[in-house]
Amino acid sequence: MEKFSTKDIVYKYKFKFSKNLGQNFLIDDSVLEDIICAADISNGDLVIEIGPGVGTLTRELLNRANKVCAIELDSGLIPILQEELKDFPNFELIHGDALKTDFNKLIGDYSEVKFVANLPYYVTTPIISKILTEDYKFKSLTIMIQKEVGERIAAKPDCKQYGALSILVQYYCDVSVIRKVTPDAFIPSPKVDSIVIKLDRLSEPKIVLKDKKLFFKIVRLAFNMRRKTLWNALKPLKISKVDMELAFERSSIDPRRRGETLSIKEFGKLSDSIHELL
Ligand code: SAM
Repeated sequence: MEKFSTKDIVYKYKFKFSKNLGQNFLIDDSVLEDIICAADISNGDLVIEIGPGVGTLTRELLNRANKVCAIELDSGLIPILQEELKDFPNFELIHGDALKTDFNKLIGDYSEVKFVANLPYYVTTPIISKILTEDYKFKSLTIMIQKEVGERIAAKPDCKQYGALSILVQYYCDVSVIRKVTPDAFIPSPKVDSIVIKLDRLSEPKIVLKDKKLFFKIVRLAFNMRRKTLWNALKPLKISKVDMELAFERSSIDPRRRGETLSIKEFGKLSDSIHELL
């Protein structure tokens, strides 16, 4: 099968990039190879790709996977993808918004799915949250995202990048940083640096919780005003002073600490102690 470069396809179809859709297409083969290698695709795998663009990454995935479902929002790209990838019987193209897609319909009878994407940066966090929290049978997410967001995802306590997003992702997944990527790896070049990360789903979430909703509420409150002590940050929970003192005591956490110093396990202990008093 003849293979054209990203630039060839863009010129061939006179494609006009849309800034609003986060269209920065990959032109660096070494980044492509690193994404493919990290994604670790084998011939029984189902892959879901979000935002295939002109199909640069898609083609490499199709060469390795059992099936690739790609979801693309831009109607201008649909005929290009249909034409360029028409020789792959294992390709399913969905014209739609990944944020509104029920991935279970695509997963069907497959036991699990691997997500791979050079994500449109304007929807990175909502897409990751959707995949993690909607209980899909995913094995991994190998994604290229804005470097700053990747650093927040991988951050550990006591650094300024550590926050609610770090905890959400690390509760469900092991995070590996694959490589950094400079703007010249794309057309057009974005204004920011990028990073490739891999999220491997843990067989069980990192901690056992009595009340997951309460845990994430506490995490959100703790980071909403990150300079506040936990004692002050958790006031919106409207729990009596006596009960709050007891919860901090039972979880052995000093209420004068700030949320950014707590590990996921410590947030879990605090949340369980508060849950017991409700
Ligand atoms: N995968 C291609 C590559 O690596 O060259 C393109 C990546 S580009 C950063 C992001 C792609 O996502 C674009 O093709 C864009 O049209 C598409 N896109 C943007 N928002 C989307 C959404 N909500 N759902 C699905 N695709 C979207």
